[in-house]
Amino acid sequence: MENPIDATTAATLLYVEDDPATRKMVTLMLRRKFPQVSLLLAENGQMGLQLFTAHKPDIVMTDVRMPVMDGIRMAREIKALDRRTRVIILTAASDTALLLDAIDIGIHHYVLKPVKMDKLEAAINHCLSGVRLEQQVRQQDEYIRQMAYFDSLTGLPNRQLFDEFLHLALAQAHRHNHDRLLAVLFLDLDRFKVINDTLGHAVGDQLLTAVARRLKECCRRDRDTVARRGGDEFMILLPDLDSPQEAARVGQKIIDSFASPFVLPEHELFISTCIGISIFPDDGTEGETLVRNADMAMYRAKEHGRSRYHFYNPSMDVQAARRLALETSLRKALERQEFFLQYQPKVNVKTGQIVSFEALVRWQHPELGLVPPKQFIPLAEETGLIVPLGEWVLRTACAQNRTWQDANLPPLRVAVNFSPRQFQMLRLAEMVERVLAETRLDPCWLELEVTEGIMLHNIDNAITTLHRLSELGIHLAIDDFGTGYSSLSYIKKLPINTLKIDQSFVSDITVNPDDAAIATAVITMAQSLRLNVIAEGVEAEEQARLLDALQCPEMQGFFFSKPLSAEEFPLILGKPHWRSTLPPGVTKQ
Ligand code: C2E
Ligand code: MG
Ligand code: MG
Repeated sequence: MENPIDATTAATLLYVEDDPATRKMVTLMLRRKFPQVSLLLAENGQMGLQLFTAHKPDIVMTDVRMPVMDGIRMAREIKALDRRTRVIILTAASDTALLLDAIDIGIHHYVLKPVKMDKLEAAINHCLSGVRLEQQVRQQDEYIRQMAYFDSLTGLPNRQLFDEFLHLALAQAHRHNHDRLLAVLFLDLDRFKVINDTLGHAVGDQLLTAVARRLKECCRRDRDTVARRGGDEFMILLPDLDSPQEAARVGQKIIDSFASPFVLPEHELFISTCIGISIFPDDGTEGETLVRNADMAMYRAKEHGRSRYHFYNPSMDVQAARRLALETSLRKALERQEFFLQYQPKVNVKTGQIVSFEALVRWQHPELGLVPPKQFIPLAEETGLIVPLGEWVLRTACAQNRTWQDANLPPLRVAVNFSPRQFQMLRLAEMVERVLAETRLDPCWLELEVTEGIMLHNIDNAITTLHRLSELGIHLAIDDFGTGYSSLSYIKKLPINTLKIDQSFVSDITVNPDDAAIATAVITMAQSLRLNVIAEGVEAEEQARLLDALQCPEMQGFFFSKPLSAEEFPLILGKPHWRSTLPPGVTKQ
């Protein structure tokens, strides 16, 4: 790396003078004698101060007596803003009182008027040498920092800087309650030594530089850190991940990118790499442990051959391989029509009647069998596939509901789940409106279930979309209520109709008083906000009884019915379900 200290230093000079003739003469001299200096001109102190704030010149040269604001006052304010600014005062000999003031402020020079050019030149030169010295010290500091923190061959952060970034990222991840993951990737080049030994170090260096560039291209520019650890070893820090799969994806991307040759001035080289991955918090919560475990994982990858990545935790390898395979087949599943819907009724326990039903997507994978939504929905969200899939679910559910209504079955509202990712779409409301028109379903027969997660990103867009949907006459429910992290105050601001008490509070409601307390709180809150409330995941009569006693009007769960196929669902429509035995309005404690 070239030492930047030799670079020529430039400076900016602000000249403040109200007399046009003097200003012209001095300006001419400055342009001739100091061509490298950028000039700023002002007619009075106030203008000077404005220019100073905007441009931060290194040197200020000013007349004293000026309209609006005099030179001494301006100099005082400038010094208060930046003590290091060099100030030259141009003044008449009779201004001795002002001079005392000037000394008090800490000016560097004063030049008597009428101005003698050689005196002025000497003063400016003196200031310039000071400025230059300061700039050199600053550049030297920067140079030392570069030497200490960056790899001189590739320009990448070195091991020290990587460790510092890792430390910071971990501190942040700890603050987020381990809720975001972080990955450390450790990689080295397969058989780099052979290239170095046979083609020479110069070619080895060119290759390392090209590898550095390619690694950076495989990462998120603003968030990830690619560093050189030494020799042919590199490290990558991927902060803020949703799943280990994202790290696996970067690993695979790097391996794939190494499939094309590295084109160097005189050679075209193929090289492969092995990557070890460790994940915070599973594989360690300290930087050192994560690095050591990623290193160990890399050795395991090498044992298995070239061009591969390995997680430190073997079970993650299995998971990652499975998820990668899933991801590939998920992309094709829509075209191959492997998705279908099941429908689960929601029951009003006061009447024992089905009041609506939820559409739940299913994936019939040709080899893996039925894949549960908990596995493929997050994957569809990560890959963006949720957008076409979500639209397919909506269209199918609306069309099905319309078919049942056309067959004169009692009209019911169909609930469709929407992921937070779908709410980042700009024209979501238009899409829903279009699907309703195409399937000829009245908006009042559609309900959308959204989670609190929609409020985490682009809140304004989410709120606008919810309002548009609500204005169309669509019902809106907050799904899995109570599991999100957002504040409750947003509920009042949203056009929500229903809260769904998450099944995690229902499953132990009869044995865990905390869960019962949460359910009570949600029901009370819904009542006071005039919202409907439904409990999901009701599996047993005791749970239904208790929820009924807590005044929960609607329920959904295996106790009433499992999700059913489109053929099965109409068969249960006429049948009465379990209903409350309490007289209306009575709360059993
Ligand atoms: P969710 O919207 O909270 O749906 C309720 C889940 O609980 C469903 O799981 C349902 O089958 C299950 N369930 C219903 N009653 C009971 C019960 O009594 N006990 C137990 N243990 N479980 C019960 P499923 O179908 O596996 O769906 C899981 C999640 O996947 C859904 O949770 C929803 O968040 C998501 N999902 C399902 N379909 C879609 C869809 O079309 N689009 C989107 N974006 N997400 C969907
Ligand atoms: Mg739901
Ligand atoms: Mg739910």
